[in-house]
Amino acid sequence: MSCKIYMDHAATTEMLPEVREAMEPYLMEEYGNASTAYEMGQRAKDSIEKARRTIAEAIDANPEEIFFTSGGSESDNWVIKNVAGEKKHVGRHIITSKIEHHAILRSCQYLEELGYDLTYLDVDSYGIVDVESVLAALRKDTTLVSIMTGNNEIGTIEPVAEIGAALKNRGIAFHTDAVQAVGQIPLSMRHLPVDYLSASAHKFHGPKGVGFLFVRKDRDLPSFIHGGSQERGKRAGTENVAGIVGMATALSIATSEMYYVRPRLVRLRNYFVERLRHEIPDIRLNGHPYKRLPGNVNISIRGIDATSLLVLLEEDGICASAGSACNTGQTRVSHVIEAIGVPEDYAPGSVRFTMGRQTNRRQIDETVDSLKRCVKILRQQE
Ligand SMILES: *Cc1c(COP(=O)(O)O)cnc(C)c1O
Repeated sequence: MSCKIYMDHAATTEMLPEVREAMEPYLMEEYGNASTAYEMGQRAKDSIEKARRTIAEAIDANPEEIFFTSGGSESDNWVIKNVAGEKKHVGRHIITSKIEHHAILRSCQYLEELGYDLTYLDVDSYGIVDVESVLAALRKDTTLVSIMTGNNEIGTIEPVAEIGAALKNRGIAFHTDAVQAVGQIPLSMRHLPVDYLSASAHKFHGPKGVGFLFVRKDRDLPSFIHGGSQERGKRAGTENVAGIVGMATALSIATSEMYYVRPRLVRLRNYFVERLRHEIPDIRLNGHPYKRLPGNVNISIRGIDATSLLVLLEEDGICASAGSACNTGQTRVSHVIEAIGVPEDYAPGSVRFTMGRQTNRRQIDETVDSLKRCVKILRQQE
């Protein structure tokens, strides 16, 4: 069944036609390897460096601070495992939060198995990490703090600027997983006090399998993939030229259109939430009322099983998610819903609707109407 109404932009987004157009030459005739000396190779190299400048400009960074990766998971793994790994003689304590993406949490668990000490910070009922709790968790042997910018499930935007400012001049590396935020909310690396930042193209209408890691100038960056001298010897492997070019095109569009896409999504989101509040009894909005990603609506419905609800919604052509996409097949309550303390009778009924630039009011009306119908059916089955 196809998604007539796609409400899962936090899982992935459709590629824009302009992105495909920009990529096409590099999938076919411009197949040169950027490490070769002849012109076709040099053209590939030039395109990669141009993409690096475009991306740097979009987030107010320097091109030398951008390292291309295969996506958000790789960028996260790189920082957690390798940046922390290199500091193991200084200390082995890492601080993160309970609501991070699995790319962070599972990397942290892996380090725990290797003998590292991890602190997983609690969040409040909105999903916000308290700056004071970060400071309180600091130890002499803390080497790395990783707190996400925007949560992929409940959309909460974390006080990353405040946390970064509080950590300044302590010799502790600060990373943020900004995969849900890049291209959605304004981010300036000149002003945001973070050392490392992860991003992924397919979350902002670019291709899948490509992303980047921002690394502030002069911060440590151990090699992640050893081999050739690509990405200044830090991440070997022949570059995904088409993907990199596509990502740069997508981010430059997202950035230039943000000034009207973002307020539009916020209005749609508020409209969506208002209708739900008035028309479906016993629901709660998860995450912060306004410190949240523009297109995110995450609700818990009392006495409902999210998996059954999603099946019914799909029959109406509506594609949404229960918790995070990675939890498919499990009715288990997600770690994020658990961390914000959603009551037991609500937690299994948590669903996420994430809107994108194509979403319109009619689609929201249809979604709410369908939701009302589906919830009624499921409640009658009780
Ligand atoms: C999607 C996502 C990732 C993983 O990115 P991929 O490019 O799919 O590997 C990591 N963190 C967050 C917050 C995400 O939403």
